[in-house]
Amino acid sequence: MSNGFDRRQFLKVSARGAAAAGIGAAGRLPASGVQAAGASPVSNPSAWVSSLIKDFTATSPLNSLRNASKDKAWVEPLVGFSRGDDSIHSLYKEKVGPFHWTPLEIFSLTFPETPARAEDLTVVSWILPHTELTKADLRKETKNPTERWVRARLYGEEFNEALRRHVAASLTEAGHPAVAPTLSPQFKNQRSDLYGAASNFSERHAAYAAGLGTFGLCDGLITPKGKAMRCGSVVARVQIPPTPRPYTDHHAYCLFYAEGICGNCMLRCPGKAVSKSGHDKTACQKQLAVTSEYSEKHFGIPGYGCGFCQAGTPCESKIPNRFDLYWGDFVSWMNDILGRFR
Ligand code: SF4
Ligand code: SF4
Repeated sequence: MSNGFDRRQFLKVSARGAAAAGIGAAGRLPASGVQAAGASPVSNPSAWVSSLIKDFTATSPLNSLRNASKDKAWVEPLVGFSRGDDSIHSLYKEKVGPFHWTPLEIFSLTFPETPARAEDLTVVSWILPHTELTKADLRKETKNPTERWVRARLYGEEFNEALRRHVAASLTEAGHPAVAPTLSPQFKNQRSDLYGAASNFSERHAAYAAGLGTFGLCDGLITPKGKAMRCGSVVARVQIPPTPRPYTDHHAYCLFYAEGICGNCMLRCPGKAVSKSGHDKTACQKQLAVTSEYSEKHFGIPGYGCGFCQAGTPCESKIPNRFDLYWGDFVSWMNDILGRFR
């Protein structure tokens, strides 16, 4: 299981993070923080940054699948924040490897002349949920990716890069130096003793820290808008109250871990890369290479994309419950019966 952080340690850190964050103080900026480095001239930096992300997603022409029907790549994002000194970021480093950046490390690497302490920083995280059209297409498939999904992976991610640049530049212009870790020239994939292939900053883990979701059996992050999404993040010297984490277990939203049922992502995966033990990154990469060839040949697009573990599962568009699972089984059974009479 590639996200198998020590569960008890995670529980402790999750609780500690919330306490250190002053959660329960109704999301107020700490009184001392108002004057500290990173204090914002904007009266409500949380609302300002959230609007920045949501408005850009709603209005930018880059939010597009670039297909004939000019479909959007993403619907309205979710936004969350975690503190730079939240101990969960140090835990990631401890578990993934010394190469994994804490917020302070990537900030100091980017702005060596700008003084900052971990507590002066905020990690801004967002979730870009797929559109209903993109998800509906892939739900019907069992083996090969759909054109919309591949376009979202390629052009949607190009939009996500533009969004990262936009958020970092807007914050910097407002007096809050900011960097998108995954756009840093030093961002790269490395090898973790515990988890195999790993990058030096995980946006999904940043989103977990920002209260936006928990991990599923296939490693995807299950958010209130589901697991069919991509995420992004920016580290800034700004004081924003952290978003509460409404969970104490990093697998809380997954029916397999929480209730011992489901496993649909395992059944959906055409690359046999998901099992009861979790996500096999090597098998997943092999399947992605297959989708790359398929995409080039069938869509003429130099991209790739799989996503069978994300679309067509009970956690696709929401935090799932038992009923979603049984309803999904009933719909498949009905389709099967009706198919015999067609
Ligand atoms: S499909 Fe089921 S088992 Fe897989 S991540 Fe979603 S809830 Fe968990
Ligand atoms: S992306 Fe595809 S190959 Fe990888 S785990 Fe998900 S369904 Fe399997």
